Amino acid sequence: MFTFAADSNLGLMIKKVLIANRGEIAVRVIRTCREMGILTVAVYSDADRKALHVRYADEAYYIGPSPSRESYLNGDRIIEVALRSGANAVHPGYGFLSENADFARKCAEAGLIFIGPDPWAMTQMGDKITARQTMIKAGVPVVPGTQQKVDDIQAVRRIVDEIGLPIIIKASAGGGGKGMRLVRQQSELVSALKMAQSEALSSFGDDTVYIEKYVEAPHHIEFQILADKFGNTVHLFERECSIQRRHQKVVEETPSPFMTPELREKMGQAAIAAAKAVNYTGAGTIEFLVDAERNFYFLEMNTRLQVEHPITERVTGVDLVKEQIRIASGMPLSFSQNQIHQHGHAIECRVSAEDPFNNFMPSPGLVRHISEPNGLGIRTDGYVYEGYEIPIHYDPMISKLISWGRTREEAVDRMKRALFEYKITGVKTSLRFLSRIMENKDFRNGVYNTHFVPDHFDELIGGEATEKPIYEDMAVIAAYFDFTSKMERVAMNDFSIQHKPDSWKVYGINRNLMRI
Ligand code: ADP
Repeated sequence: MFTFAADSNLGLMIKKVLIANRGEIAVRVIRTCREMGILTVAVYSDADRKALHVRYADEAYYIGPSPSRESYLNGDRIIEVALRSGANAVHPGYGFLSENADFARKCAEAGLIFIGPDPWAMTQMGDKITARQTMIKAGVPVVPGTQQKVDDIQAVRRIVDEIGLPIIIKASAGGGGKGMRLVRQQSELVSALKMAQSEALSSFGDDTVYIEKYVEAPHHIEFQILADKFGNTVHLFERECSIQRRHQKVVEETPSPFMTPELREKMGQAAIAAAKAVNYTGAGTIEFLVDAERNFYFLEMNTRLQVEHPITERVTGVDLVKEQIRIASGMPLSFSQNQIHQHGHAIECRVSAEDPFNNFMPSPGLVRHISEPNGLGIRTDGYVYEGYEIPIHYDPMISKLISWGRTREEAVDRMKRALFEYKITGVKTSLRFLSRIMENKDFRNGVYNTHFVPDHFDELIGGEATEKPIYEDMAVIAAYFDFTSKMERVAMNDFSIQHKPDSWKVYGINRNLMRI
């Protein structure tokens, strides 16, 4: 392990940071700023008046109505507030304006330090077609496919003749797993192209699409990058992100169980080459697809902090937000590649206010009771508290649960234990779904790829109709009545009783009483 050259604000150019975000990531950035002696400014919408980031920051400013485009996406308003508050830097978090080169440029023009890469690098990696072209020039392997946009069916057929089916038609401006169409049959080509273009237009305001070969049953493995303004670029190893639902990550871990030392070396070097190709500075992530033969292909670069950054922090000991701030302040990296090591194993579960047993329907509303797990090797990055009303306007992710263990097995067992301890009532959550992933044999053996969730869907969500009401209502009861710990353990854990239709009689409790 190594120590940082300077952890305090002494000598840092950045003295006061406006966090242009909300939710868990705003809270997370505020935490590091406070440790560094940097003042923080929160911004909030109508729906977020009582949000935790507003309470944690040194100052908070209202920026507009609840819909994001009228508040968290209103760059001009945010810059105006930053200047008014005397902040000299802006941290964009992830999502919202974090990959908006225009916003980064406007911050610079207003004299504010944007804690992220320069706008040019963002543009180079912003649309997927340009990013692919840049990577090909840099000698980084990309998924076979087109280098230009495709807008007519003849162009699609030509590329299919060349690379064969199946293919994916993708939105160049895409993100969040949206705007992708898988095509397995020639007969689907015409309609798939039309649908991909119209989806791209409605989701991203741009109908530009391109084609990639569909890589069968791949792994999504990404590399964390840090680069300073003096030409030093390092990677902080990989994150395995193949547990996905609808192309969106649900569980991530590091190291990847699929990784070999040789592959890590090659992918790490490719990730550094990718970042250097755009003179990248700050924290960034190079995403790759890796096929069953361990061939890897560049997928895209995210020019911001990732949701799953804490697992990298846990195994390397590096506070990535602190490094972002130091780099944006013009300081050199305080460590070199050979000083960064992977220590143990970390897993992240994304906890969302959704009902996995009802097609993942968002479940906003009042949090009646929450008790977060704790203990050795557990970190929770969340933002909801008892009595908080989860707004409908934003992403349903409410917290990230991170476990660490000396071995993968220990990290998985610890995650299982932490998920068991985690209780949230009032809203539906994905906690039970996540527990089932941890209990799954293939997951436990580390043998999975991006098809894991669809392949195990029935096991992951099946049979819950009987279990769910009792399980959740018991948590409500536990919140309102002083159950003995033994009673609670039996009620929460012993699912065998839940299949008995009269299991409520076990406790002499009338179910109707519990609708408090
Ligand atoms: P987004 O930017 O919307 O997140 P990505 O290009 O990063 O989209 O892809 C998200 C996920 O979709 C990947 O992790 C992978 O599971 C799947 N995917 C994307 N491209 C391909 C491909 N060419 N072959 C197979 N799966 C793919």
